[in-house]
Amino acid sequence: AAKADGRGIHRFYRAELLVGAQNRKALEDDLRHALAQNQFHLAYQPVVSTREERIVGYEALIRWEHPTRGAISPAEFIPVAEECGLIETIGEWVMRTACDEAARWPEGVRVAVNVSPIQFANPALPAIVTNALARSGIAPQRLELEITEGVFLDETASSDQMFKSLKAIGVRLALDDFGTGYSSLGYLKKAPFDKIKIDQSFVRGAAIAGNRNAAIIKAIVTLAETLGMETTAEGVELKDELALIRDLGCSHIQGYIYGKPARSEEVEKQLGNGGKASPVGYKVSRSPR
Ligand code: C2E
Ligand code: MG
Ligand code: MG
Ligand code: MG
Repeated sequence: AAKADGRGIHRFYRAELLVGAQNRKALEDDLRHALAQNQFHLAYQPVVSTREERIVGYEALIRWEHPTRGAISPAEFIPVAEECGLIETIGEWVMRTACDEAARWPEGVRVAVNVSPIQFANPALPAIVTNALARSGIAPQRLELEITEGVFLDETASSDQMFKSLKAIGVRLALDDFGTGYSSLGYLKKAPFDKIKIDQSFVRGAAIAGNRNAAIIKAIVTLAETLGMETTAEGVELKDELALIRDLGCSHIQGYIYGKPARSEEVEKQLGNGGKASPVGYKVSRSPR
């Protein structure tokens, strides 16, 4: 009986794997056509300066409206795009679209674009960035590239060269999701980041008494200030979290409390009101996730 059970379980797992692989293959096929069929758009989330409580920029976040499955999260399809070689094309579309749309916003409002480690490893990236800036006409200082610690995984001289080339163009660089990867302090020493984005997993629960996240955030802020870098706290949802993040001295705040990602037309409306931000997302509890 034990043997039969064992085989049954084995078969069950194989079936699961097969379904997983089929879904994955289907997703990959659909992803190949998504760009040509206009199924992507960008949503922009406000980044607010803590001191002035003003919107200083937006992070561009890709959205995929699948014809039958509906909205699919970038957390699901970006890794697939990275593995099947589509991230280069999709990433270039994001870069161009974000710059083009930001060109319609008031001068001085920045746009941040997520750049995959695979794009970062491509020597063509500086040309792609230069081209996106030129066709949109936005100043390089208005564009911020968000990269994760993943770019340091295969450390080569070429990553140093890439940082130099991008800084030479004049764009800003942000280290995204700080604290979730290896968080080696060596990265901060050698790479010319303008900003550290503190991952939302640290903001989560930070306002609860006795939680150690607040101490970690404080340490990151102190380190960043010493290195002349800005800090953005990601995923601020609650009033208590906002108060704490202000106390801890993060220079910028991004989270549902100031606004969820929205289309460029909505951004134009927000900025039409002068870009004054107010905490709208006051809630008694966090959204389910
Ligand atoms: P990320 O770059 O760290 O982006 C922040 C994520 O946190 C976004 O999720 C945003 O909607 C979410 N977020 C912001 N504030 C809050 C909050 O208060 N509460 C909660 N629960 N979430 C909040 P999103 O849009 O689903 O994107 C997930 C990830 O997918 C991004 O994380 C980024 O790594 C990747 N991604 C998104 N767009 C692109 C893109 O154009 N290119 C690349 N390479 N990656 C992208
Ligand atoms: Mg990001
Ligand atoms: Mg992040
Ligand atoms: Mg993230």
